[in-house]
Amino acid sequence: MARQDGMRNASQPALQVIVLGASGGPREDNVTAFLVRSVRTNWSRGSLVALDGGVHLSAITRILEETQPPGLGADIALPHVLRTGPFAGMEIHSTSASANALDVSRNLVDSYLITHPHLDHISGFVLNTAAPPGTKPKRIAGLPSTISAFKNHIFNNVIWPNLSDENNGAGLVTYMRLVEGGSPALGDGADRGYLEVSDGLAVKVFSVSHGHCMERHAHRGSTSSRYGSTDSGPSVISRNGVRTQSTGETERETECVYDSSVYFIRDAPSGREVLMCGDVEPDSISLSPRNIGVWLEAAPKIASGHLAAIFIECSYDDSRTDDRLYGHLAPRYIIQEMQTLATEVERIRQIPARLEPTKKRKRELEESGRRVSRIIARATVGPVPVDDRPVSPKSMRPPKIIRSESSENIVSSHLTVPTAEMNLKDASILRTPKMPNALRGLTVVIIHTKENFDGKEPAGEKILREILAHEEKAKLGCQYILSRRGQSLTF
Ligand SMILES: [Zn+2]
Ligand SMILES: [Zn+2]
Repeated sequence: MARQDGMRNASQPALQVIVLGASGGPREDNVTAFLVRSVRTNWSRGSLVALDGGVHLSAITRILEETQPPGLGADIALPHVLRTGPFAGMEIHSTSASANALDVSRNLVDSYLITHPHLDHISGFVLNTAAPPGTKPKRIAGLPSTISAFKNHIFNNVIWPNLSDENNGAGLVTYMRLVEGGSPALGDGADRGYLEVSDGLAVKVFSVSHGHCMERHAHRGSTSSRYGSTDSGPSVISRNGVRTQSTGETERETECVYDSSVYFIRDAPSGREVLMCGDVEPDSISLSPRNIGVWLEAAPKIASGHLAAIFIECSYDDSRTDDRLYGHLAPRYIIQEMQTLATEVERIRQIPARLEPTKKRKRELEESGRRVSRIIARATVGPVPVDDRPVSPKSMRPPKIIRSESSENIVSSHLTVPTAEMNLKDASILRTPKMPNALRGLTVVIIHTKENFDGKEPAGEKILREILAHEEKAKLGCQYILSRRGQSLTF
């Protein structure tokens, strides 16, 4: 992949994100789905990547219905290049928005990046597999646990026909199992670990936690349990990447943490990136806190100006108590996670040149967010048994949250702990991070707000209002946007 200087230039957007579905339900017509493209590919075949597919064809159709000009095929000749709307610049060939939407889905979208296999993230895509097929199979890309869920629980000839190319299926869908944290064998330099999924777009996936089973953990904070179900559900049972499944004969001790994931999506020529998060819970109340690994990966990209936006869920407003978040975020936790990120960004900006890690070590650090988390956790909570496996929920306790005496800012206690790059005498520079405006230039797009039905203030607007109130105090400097279906965002 060719790469040039990737410093952001607001006048020349490199990435476009189209919001197909902005909510986390319960209404089924606006659930999570996006289209992402590298702007320079100019609507060529295979240039769009779908990120989740709660809705898909219906949402594209609806957008085209609203943006196709009247008089198509009569006053306005076909084919026609759209002038307005999210698909401006794209050529359409029919007067029918449905036919044009099918064209988009069939010819422009090859890959579907799935964050996790909950229905509100996959249902539209699954139903759309019954649409007239193109000449290439649709590629479902995700963590192995996600692919396993599709294979065992969706395309299994029970819930839906086996349209996959495995187990004698019809071959309309092909599975792509992604390597957590990126494959170290792929790419070089800034592209290292990234997998090219469409013309000009490359991705790196990280797993995060999205709640835990309710059967065995009635409330948060439970320790490990015996999981004796005979349902070998592939993604419900995880030990941070090491999948342990129970069978009728063998019961194994497991942590019932549900895996979700986040995708760094990179426009290869410019180096500009967006981070798109699946459903995720706060590290501070998680049985398996893994967001810190994502923030460690993101922080240098923000400091260098390459990461332009973070799409992150906020399902509920702050009236939700912790025991009813069910693996999701609320405004108070959005700001807490952003403060953790801001402190990491600030830490990178404050590191004097003499302390800057070598390129090789920096790469190792960036690629090992989870490992670094374990180092941090060990330093925070005291010694734990030596364990070279990826961080396990058992050895990893949530970073303790403390309040800075000098400010209202919430600071993760691990941030006062020296990382592998610094010794203790140098750590004093970390103790008083200058938080204000550390995230200036970053756009935070709030997704997956769940509708309320009380006829009062729309849920998303209340959530945004609460986030902005927290931001008033935190002064992180980022811009918060509430996602809406049919929205087009460029970065
Ligand atoms: Zn969801
Ligand atoms: Zn979910």
